[in-house]
Amino acid sequence: MTGHSQAKEAGIFVRLVLLGAPGAGKGTQAAALAAHYRIPHISTGDIFRQNLSQGTRLGLMARGYMDQGLLVPDNVTEAMVADRLREADALAGFVLDGFPRTLPQADALEQMLAGWQAELTAAVLLAVSAERLVARLTARRVCPQCGATYHLAFHPPQTAGVCDRCGAALVQRDDDAAPTVRTRISVYEEQTAPLITFYRARSLLQEVNGEQPVDVVTATVIARLGGARP
Ligand code: ADP
Ligand code: AMP
Repeated sequence: MTGHSQAKEAGIFVRLVLLGAPGAGKGTQAAALAAHYRIPHISTGDIFRQNLSQGTRLGLMARGYMDQGLLVPDNVTEAMVADRLREADALAGFVLDGFPRTLPQADALEQMLAGWQAELTAAVLLAVSAERLVARLTARRVCPQCGATYHLAFHPPQTAGVCDRCGAALVQRDDDAAPTVRTRISVYEEQTAPLITFYRARSLLQEVNGEQPVDVVTATVIARLGGARP
């Protein structure tokens, strides 16, 4: 029996995919859901940025795509996620933020999980209108040290420019500049939005209004998933 199927036998598995356009609140909600269910928050964007800050080959390769707002090739991203999901902390569940982003990636995830006799619990779609996405992304600030996410108006830190959690100076992501934001939203519409149909066809889709306050969105998702902590 694999580690993943043992976790399933023990009944401790919440395996979530968060879907939504850039700025929909995936990172914000993934952090809250990971804390609630005590499962790892796995963000492919964060893994690429971490590799970039460490100057790894993967990070340097990904940079060219990220700077332009384009997707890193599927084979690279899928291999990276497969490695991460094999780590021990992901056996009892995970919340994936930013993966899958294409139909081939969704197929690859399905096959990976099938190989471990594991299944997704749900794919949660955070629905936010296009106008609001731009306003969210251009005023997003992130902590380069611990990964916490803020918004200048909607979720400001207690002290301007300083992370509440770890005290590091907040920064703006390079790809949150307005022209790149527009490219990222088009890439989402063309390459990622088809995943909505993919997960709906598998009865895994849970669509939530992502324009509500952060804690209301979190509570709605938890209620949809059955409320209790596993
Ligand atoms: P994603 O990971 O989908 O790109 P983020 O979680 O980074 O999105 O959120 C984008 C921006 O919007 C951040 O500045 C975040 O603080 C803000 N934000 C997230 N959720 C909400 C919400 N429900 N209401 C208002 N602002 C939000
Ligand atoms: P994010 O932090 O999720 O907004 O991702 C930032 C950038 O990382 C994206 O614009 C892509 O260039 C790259 N990236 C993140 N996740 C993926 C993925 N699943 N497939 C391809 N590229 C990705």
